[in-house]
Amino acid sequence: MKVKVISVLEDNYMYLVIEESTRHALAVDAAVPKRLLEIIRKEDVVLRAILTTHHHWDHARGNEELAQLLPGLQVFGADERIGALTHRVSHGQELSFGTIRVRCLFTPCHTSGHMCYFMWEDNSPDAPALFSALGPLGAHPCPTGDTLFVGGCGQFFEGTAEQMHTNLTQILGTLPKDTKIFCGHECTVRNLKFALKVEPENEVVKEKLAWAKQRDDEDLPTVPSTLQEEFLYNPFLRVTEEAVQRFTGRTDPVEVLRALRSHRDNFKKPKERPNPQAMLAFHWGLFGPFLEKK
Ligand SMILES: [Zn+2]
Repeated sequence: MKVKVISVLEDNYMYLVIEESTRHALAVDAAVPKRLLEIIRKEDVVLRAILTTHHHWDHARGNEELAQLLPGLQVFGADERIGALTHRVSHGQELSFGTIRVRCLFTPCHTSGHMCYFMWEDNSPDAPALFSALGPLGAHPCPTGDTLFVGGCGQFFEGTAEQMHTNLTQILGTLPKDTKIFCGHECTVRNLKFALKVEPENEVVKEKLAWAKQRDDEDLPTVPSTLQEEFLYNPFLRVTEEAVQRFTGRTDPVEVLRALRSHRDNFKKPKERPNPQAMLAFHWGLFGPFLEKK
């Protein structure tokens, strides 16, 4: 099994999971059909199904077009709002695509119908020699959509801190430690800047942030990480750590998580884009006087 990481839109990821022996493939979050079809052609694979993590447009908007272009295409997801859905899946359900197996992990909170997809391949998951042959893309990829990010977690748009706590500790947190986290967005640098604010003394956060900045400079993705790594620097997985409790002023894990999310929501983006009002004021300052003369 091979996972192709495809960057689309502002900072989204689509994934193409390929069964190498048959050249059959699954797409995860097919937001941009044109780009996906390019990669499918380049890789010379047949797309069998789409797994959609949640209904947001930047994850699901390509479904209808792809379903039209590729008759018989199966579209899996856990939310009726997902376009062209053919198979509504539920928690714990297992899917097979050739030798690729998928366990559906229901993680409601970012949206009420969010699903993560833990994957492995029959005949190979325990062969260490094969692990190294596959390089960094080991045997347990898990697309996590907008639930678990590298260094962070998704916003609680349609759920509660209790739900996200269950998602992170019981649903995703109990997966094998070498599970590869393939999240829905590249927001690692910003997440880790926040993590550093939460835990200024955490050396692993510093190291991972320096690495992520380097990747960013080189325009390279920071996915996948491993679950094991996430436990070392992701504050949302570290709610029982003293430093994280100190930062939030709470000790109950759910309350720590709730407070963390609210701090993160207010952790402003650096000024990457000009503020439209400021731009207007600036241009008025420049050209206003000339206009007034007329
Ligand atoms: Zn989303």
